[in-house]
Amino acid sequence: MAKRDYYEVLGVAKTATEEELKKAYRRLAMKYHPDRNPDNKEAEEKFKEANEAYEILSNADKRAAYDRHGHAGVDPNMGAGGFGGGFGGGGGFSDIFEAFGDIFGGGGGRGGGSRQRGGADLQYTLELTLEEAVKGVKKQVRFTTAAVCEVCDGSGAKKGSSMTTCRTCGGQGQVRMQQGFFTVQQTCPTCRGKGQIIKDPCEACHGEGRTNKQKTLEVTIPAGVDTGDKVRLAGEGEAGANGAPAGNLYVQVVVKEHSIFKRDGADLYCEVPISFVDAALGAEIEVPTLDGRVKLKIPEGTQSGKLFRLRGKGVKPVRAYDAGDMLCRVIVETPVHLNTKQKELLREFQASLDGNDKQSPNKKSFFDGLKELFS
Ligand SMILES: [Zn+2]
Ligand SMILES: [Zn+2]
Repeated sequence: MAKRDYYEVLGVAKTATEEELKKAYRRLAMKYHPDRNPDNKEAEEKFKEANEAYEILSNADKRAAYDRHGHAGVDPNMGAGGFGGGFGGGGGFSDIFEAFGDIFGGGGGRGGGSRQRGGADLQYTLELTLEEAVKGVKKQVRFTTAAVCEVCDGSGAKKGSSMTTCRTCGGQGQVRMQQGFFTVQQTCPTCRGKGQIIKDPCEACHGEGRTNKQKTLEVTIPAGVDTGDKVRLAGEGEAGANGAPAGNLYVQVVVKEHSIFKRDGADLYCEVPISFVDAALGAEIEVPTLDGRVKLKIPEGTQSGKLFRLRGKGVKPVRAYDAGDMLCRVIVETPVHLNTKQKELLREFQASLDGNDKQSPNKKSFFDGLKELFS
């Protein structure tokens, strides 16, 4: 079987930036991960193939050698540490997921001048409620961006006017330059690779082939996103000049504060006030979750501040298999606005406690500690 081209394996252009390589690799690694494809030979092969391709292309020297000489230029069996071999062991996997912890990645930056004529990437910050972020949502985003000029269909030439063939390159878009013993092919500097020169520029876009326009897009936000996650909409960024490829739109998520819940990764926290009677006698109370309510058993003698864990009632992050937990901290509330009768009952209750330190264990150990401190 012929070895596939590494760029093809990762599904990226030869000009891909480090970030694009990393993203492509991360996507494949997640998809073909043996944990997700048990006993699937094909997936295992794909996984290894992606690892090998990334191993080479992520290393500037190896990539250069591969670009020059192809597979002959690099030997993946030489020093292909890390991801190369046994995936069964404990170490390998977690490394991958640590290194690529965030599915959406950094995005943003576009490397060097590889696609300088292409449209710029755009970033849109989208505010979501906690519920939307946890359950996923479709949102409309509106933004102004450079779009392909409708008057000239992006050509930049005035309607009816003809383009002339570039004289520098004879319409090839490429020129050959002599460099020492080598002939190097380069993009034509006059027409910038198009092979054609605009004689009469389109008035709507001044020959740019693009104009500013307001765009509305529907974005599908996957369930489990958190602040900082980005969703990429390929090709929805700025249009490129004169038909060059468009940039990407990155929708960056910001989750608004919730009145009840605080999120920490997969876990949700909330504080639940309970009466001191319930805390003392025990009770079954209802606590809120993002889906409704669940019952929580408060055992007899629960102290204020005790944390109860409700397994699986938290959030399932985008990249996780399971939902986290909900953590409820009960806060014992001191009763206020007591009437005479109630105060009387409490004094009676207090009198019944006198001389029985066992019924306030924390208070006892605190004051015993004080005694030792000052004796
Ligand atoms: Zn135009
Ligand atoms: Zn030219």
